[in-house]
Amino acid sequence: MIVDSRRIIVHKSSKPHEGLIVYRMSREQRVQDNWALLFAQQQADERETALWVVFTLVPHYPNANQRHFDFLIKGLKQVEKALIEKNIPFVLLIDDQPMKVFEQFIKDHGVTVVVSDFDPLRHKRQWIESINQIDGITHYEVDAHNIVPCHFVSQKAEFGAYTLRPKIKRMLPEFLTEFPKLRSQEPKHAIATFPINWDEIEALLSSLECISPITWLQPGEEAAKAMLHQFIESKMPVYIAQHNHPEIDGQSQMSPYLHFGHISAQRIALEVLNESAYEDREAFLEELIVRKELADNFCFYNAFYDQVNGFPAWAKKDIELHRQDVRTYLYTLDELDAGITHDVLWNAAQRELIHKGKMHGYMRMYWAKKILEWTLSVETALQYAIYLNDKYSLDGRDPNGYAGIAWSIGGVHDRAWFSRPIFGKIRYMSYSGCKSKFDVNRYIQNNTFE
Ligand SMILES: Cc1cc2nc3c(=O)[nH]c(=O)nc-3n(C[C@H](O)[C@H](O)[C@H](O)COP(=O)(O)OP(=O)(O)OC[C@H]3O[C@@H](n4cnc5c(N)ncnc54)[C@H](O)[C@@H]3O)c2cc1C
Repeated sequence: MIVDSRRIIVHKSSKPHEGLIVYRMSREQRVQDNWALLFAQQQADERETALWVVFTLVPHYPNANQRHFDFLIKGLKQVEKALIEKNIPFVLLIDDQPMKVFEQFIKDHGVTVVVSDFDPLRHKRQWIESINQIDGITHYEVDAHNIVPCHFVSQKAEFGAYTLRPKIKRMLPEFLTEFPKLRSQEPKHAIATFPINWDEIEALLSSLECISPITWLQPGEEAAKAMLHQFIESKMPVYIAQHNHPEIDGQSQMSPYLHFGHISAQRIALEVLNESAYEDREAFLEELIVRKELADNFCFYNAFYDQVNGFPAWAKKDIELHRQDVRTYLYTLDELDAGITHDVLWNAAQRELIHKGKMHGYMRMYWAKKILEWTLSVETALQYAIYLNDKYSLDGRDPNGYAGIAWSIGGVHDRAWFSRPIFGKIRYMSYSGCKSKFDVNRYIQNNTFE
């Protein structure tokens, strides 16, 4: 077997009969290094039938705007080209009720096996459930995102990195393996073509919320790999020293690519292991593997991943004790969105988010914690932070975002600290703390965007 069976969830199994295999591409928008696509090809080979790839494009996808769609569509164009080169037809279905059109497609084309890629977020779980209701098909879900499959490494919501880390480390050697190559499909299986009218799709963009697309980062598999190699060469050797310095560009910039699936974390890890010195590489892999896979674990096993109800018991108890605490500053969502608070550092972070579409990781913690400090309730803070993060971040609407915000505002995966007003025992961050850690003025200067 090419693809490890522990990556696969068998949702539904029907008696084998003649028909197509469809890989329903969703989270993993790439052709190389994609376990779900490889598994679908394996199924097609075993059944001696054709493999097609289908993507359902939802014009009014929750919290997505022009910025996200621009990156997505440019990436999908490259996916289409790469699949055609492999004789694999690519189908784009466009509808706000994606599973309805997908079901129709399955019926119209005699699809017998559907392979979905894994995504722990609520609406994606609902899509999986809808497919499970379709009669007469076999439905597999393949975790092509996590190096150690999320459902396999743990069967519960983990308390923190300290409980997930040993489980991942134990299994990593078995899963961190080289990918087989996707083969070209025999031409006889590629007879159908589904021309995509990209102009029409691009025209759809104009009907979406106007948040300007990002130009400093190019979408797609090739661009992701080029960015990775640039990182390995120039920033990885100083990752420990620099990645927590928001005034320096010391991070990999991999998160938008990982979010859209333009690169696999497994490919990143393999390349990094080949190239880098031990300490820096271990620090990076801790983020890429342990922290990222912890976020998937959080969203998969905690149905309230974007709600206060999803916080740990100690934090929820503490929230009640501090509900009435006096807030010296209070800001509305519009004021926060406009970045016009009394705090020049926070405003700079908000500008970075708006203009770059990606805030530095260290600043994200400070940014979210200040929203907690400056709003009337923790519920409001959580709602505002998620709204702004998802609206502007190219890597937003991602388990990492929900986990990161829940960590900052609700103590998820963290421990209780000394109690203080408003925050209770949630870890606090201050302007003066930032000033002692990095060059605050340089960061503000870098993010003026006049
Ligand atoms: C309030 C808040 C909101 C966040 N929102 C998002 C978001 O919307 N999308 C997102 O991808 N990340 C989010 N993060 C996590 C983290 O800040 C980003 O993943 C990281 O800054 C991305 O930049 P990079 O790829 O250049 O990072 P690098 O430092 O180069 O890290 C490499 C990879 O490791 C993973 N990683 C790094 N830090 C974390 C972390 N703390 N948690 C989980 N995975 C991590 C990411 O996949 C990242 O791409 C958030 C964190 C916080 C505190």
